[in-house]
Amino acid sequence: MTLHTIDPEIAADLQSELTRQREGLEMIPSENFVSPAVLEALGSIGTNKYSEGYPGRRYYGGCQYVDRIEQTAIDRAKKLFGVDHANVQPYSGSPANLAVYYALLNPGDTVMGMHLYFGGHMTHGLKVNFSGTLYRSVQYQTRPDGYLDLDAMDILAQTEKPKMIVVGATAYPRQFDWKALKNIADRAGAFLLADISHIAGLIVGGEHPSPVGFADVITTTTHKTLRGPRGAMILCNGNPSTPLKKVERTRENFPTLIDRAIIPGLQGGPHNHQTAAIAVALKEAALPEFKTYAHQIVLNAKALADRLLEHGFDLVTGGTDNHLLLVDLRRKGVTGTQAEKALDASGITCNKNTIPFDPRQPFDPSGIRLGTPALTSRGMKEEEMKQIGDFILEVVEHWEDADRLVLIRSRVKEMTDCFPLYQGIHYV
Ligand SMILES: *Cc1c(COP(=O)(O)O)cnc(C)c1O
Repeated sequence: MTLHTIDPEIAADLQSELTRQREGLEMIPSENFVSPAVLEALGSIGTNKYSEGYPGRRYYGGCQYVDRIEQTAIDRAKKLFGVDHANVQPYSGSPANLAVYYALLNPGDTVMGMHLYFGGHMTHGLKVNFSGTLYRSVQYQTRPDGYLDLDAMDILAQTEKPKMIVVGATAYPRQFDWKALKNIADRAGAFLLADISHIAGLIVGGEHPSPVGFADVITTTTHKTLRGPRGAMILCNGNPSTPLKKVERTRENFPTLIDRAIIPGLQGGPHNHQTAAIAVALKEAALPEFKTYAHQIVLNAKALADRLLEHGFDLVTGGTDNHLLLVDLRRKGVTGTQAEKALDASGITCNKNTIPFDPRQPFDPSGIRLGTPALTSRGMKEEEMKQIGDFILEVVEHWEDADRLVLIRSRVKEMTDCFPLYQGIHYV
């Protein structure tokens, strides 16, 4: 029995979503298109199995094959990132960060993270997130020009003496200087957590410096530039074979502390279908083609940035070194929400975003965030980016003209028709 026969309602909605993905320009920087192989593993019978524990140490029988799958994922992650230890079980990025807090800190300890409105993530100490309620959160910002303010971070760390400093972003268009950040953490006696969720694929592809050797712990989602299924990993160095007893919170013990934080600390059974898909994505990310892909993501972001600058847009930090740009729309006379809606009506999906020291409110901020990972997966290159830059200008200049947006949408569809997506897949 197929999905379509059993549940035509869900099948029809999935078909509509597939069409939306095919016909639009997906420019949310945290999104991507997984390969058919990853999709197949994700939709596999791995979902049927309970396997609480770790390979070779499970609380259930019948784990011999899921043990192999998880061990393969672990081995590939360790090799790809060059670390001693990998935990591939976190259900997603936020639970992975929660696990690191749980492993390394006591409730009430001070954590220093980047403010959400300056590009950080909710789990980096936002007041309404667990990280800002269970812990004492102090937050750093960027400079007015959008670059990380290392001097201010150092002063804040010296004053507040956090137990852990979290570095990583959802809307930062430049590279992180891991060595300088590690120095700040060391001077304050803090652990350094690098959350590379957005840039993991760029790191693997050699397009962004790796935090390995600087950060004490690394978390990453697997579904962004890494182009795997939704999921996450926690990476660290240390001695993974610490015997089962009370372990001190020293760097050497991080592998044990992290594994125990995931289970029994926070999670039950791992998602074996997800683990299988992560293993496949890690295999793909180790191929030479992935380097080409990561390089093209950055070339595309730079090409789009150049075109938007030519069209008189302001970009936070003046450009990009990675996969995303943050557009300051104030000089164009539209708000982030107005631009997001008009772009959506034109088949261009992106999201509104605050800019540093935004004079507007977060629900209708001054900027939008644009990313190239998904478009690059479809095979688009610099030429298409220029055309997209032209589309964006037209949309922003005619954001109130619904007929004009419909016309742009048909031109967007003409473009996306040239880059087929998931040929052969259908739900209806
Ligand atoms: C995406 C992201 C997360 C959270 O991932 P989810 O899977 O959405 O929970 C955490 N940190 C950063 C920096 C991210 O970009």
